[in-house]
Amino acid sequence: MKSKGIVFILSAPSGTGKTTTCKILKQKLPELKFSVSHTTREARSGESEGEDYFYISQKDFEDKIKRDEFLEWAKVHKQYYGTAFETIDRHRQNGEDILIELDVQGAKSLRDINYDAVFIFILPPSLKELEERLTKRGTEPPEIIRDRMKVGKNEIKQYEFYDYILTNVNVEETAENLLSIIRAERCRKEIYEPSPDLSSLLNSKVNA
Ligand code: 5GP
Repeated sequence: MKSKGIVFILSAPSGTGKTTTCKILKQKLPELKFSVSHTTREARSGESEGEDYFYISQKDFEDKIKRDEFLEWAKVHKQYYGTAFETIDRHRQNGEDILIELDVQGAKSLRDINYDAVFIFILPPSLKELEERLTKRGTEPPEIIRDRMKVGKNEIKQYEFYDYILTNVNVEETAENLLSIIRAERCRKEIYEPSPDLSSLLNSKVNA
């Protein structure tokens, strides 16, 4: 039993398979909440307001920064992305676990302030494989792929401040490993809250 939700932070270089992994995780763990970020980028086809993102203008985003409404925010691929305090606090206070998908800068800014969360990084098996996956998607022109590879390499170099590293060889297996991490973190001694009778037993002296 625990009263406060756990925050899981998930990052991955573009093309590593984070979106597919999260889709599988959603089916396997329906009670896990996914944080919905604010962004200034356009909605892609198939995405919807309030489910994938809250799509807002640059001016509205900058006003929110001024009003200190974001737990963290970053500029990724020339667009703003941010996580509102309100979203996270609401779930956490309700005892619900929440997963936030963040780019490496956002995750690092939370690590730097010792934010209480579990940091998980998904990596590709190799750089060659990452480039192949980005190319195969066929959604981006070569110069964008080159840019994503450059950004990706810089992100990979920062793996050290994460708690867990998942290498995505097979997406089903990666989702299964992610699930195992979440289950294990839920059993941590630090967040264990015993029932009243167990609590009095645990607080009493051990009989000699
Ligand atoms: P996309 O545009 O492909 O949905 O997301 C681009 C990148 O922005 C991904 O790495 C994604 O994890 C990251 N991202 C999404 N929401 C947030 C957020 O609220 N804050 C930060 N720092 N990054 C985010």
